[in-house]
Amino acid sequence: MNSLKEILKGVKTAAISGHVRPDGDCTGSCLATYNYIKENYPDISVDLYLEPVPNIFKFLKNSGDIISDCSQDKVYDIFFAQDCSDSERLGEAGKYFCAAKKTVCIDHHKSNLEFADVNYIFPDASSTSELVYNLMEESKISKAVAECIYLGIIHDTGVFQYSCTSSKTMQIAGKLMDKGIDYPAIVNDTFFTKTYEQIRIFGQAMLKSQRYLNDTCIYTVITKDEMEQFGVLPKHLEGIVSQLRSVKGIEAAIFLYQNEKDNYKVSLRSGNLVDVSEVAQKFGGGGHAKAAGITMHGEAGQIRELLLKEIQLQLENRIHV
Ligand code: 5GP
Ligand code: MN
Repeated sequence: MNSLKEILKGVKTAAISGHVRPDGDCTGSCLATYNYIKENYPDISVDLYLEPVPNIFKFLKNSGDIISDCSQDKVYDIFFAQDCSDSERLGEAGKYFCAAKKTVCIDHHKSNLEFADVNYIFPDASSTSELVYNLMEESKISKAVAECIYLGIIHDTGVFQYSCTSSKTMQIAGKLMDKGIDYPAIVNDTFFTKTYEQIRIFGQAMLKSQRYLNDTCIYTVITKDEMEQFGVLPKHLEGIVSQLRSVKGIEAAIFLYQNEKDNYKVSLRSGNLVDVSEVAQKFGGGGHAKAAGITMHGEAGQIRELLLKEIQLQLENRIHV
């Protein structure tokens, strides 16, 4: 597959979906494809399935069209799975993936299982949004589509700071700026601005953090009770793990938040010595070398010890080579 034009030939119905708990890249890349098809292929009927997206992303064009109820039975000519490394990560929309006549996966996760009929997977790409841009015709990208792609790129690159940012990423960002998007507003409103409740729970997470493995690893946890006490939801915890990772001397950061008793969502971030995608895959999760995640069962302390053991193994191997 070289372009959306090629893959959309003869298609009458299309569906798009991304991973559960959609983040900026997932939301941005999915809405980019959705709006691009709607604007340039009016004969194709297209649906977008995602779990509810954070309010800060709702300024994107047609975010109100997102369908979160997957109870209807539908068979689409083509199904796009985006920013998603395996079909389970599609959540309930996975049923449309299974029923579709043809499936396409567009993704940049190292842990991608190439589970679709057509797989457009580039683990070195900054974001799925960058990949979606590559599949579009530049002249057919509207300002609204450019906003979606720009938002996706800034979220997965931490506003162009992570090493996944390439010169190609910057060139694409430049082309998107030329479409007239309000990039300072996108960056500030969706990435840097936090609510008062968010900065307070950030403070709580930082205060509770502890270092392990000769101060090369940092860990913290937020419980359900604390989320209630501070008036926040899991989606408001975005950014805590990156903050932990920024501590001087840290090679790996572990952040846990409680879903329910003995069930935690784990976020992992690393520097140059640890591949956290490998760590996550050991426990059924996935992601990228420097950013990965898992859902794990057990007490927080037990989970921390399991993760530290894997990280320690990697650190020993890397330091001794
Ligand atoms: P985060 O820590 O921000 O939730 O996720 C970091 C990266 O790991 C993202 O690219 C995300 O898609 C991936 N990831 C997070 N949780 C899971 C998971 O449970 N399974 C898999 N396969 N990937 C995950
Ligand atoms: Mn992504």
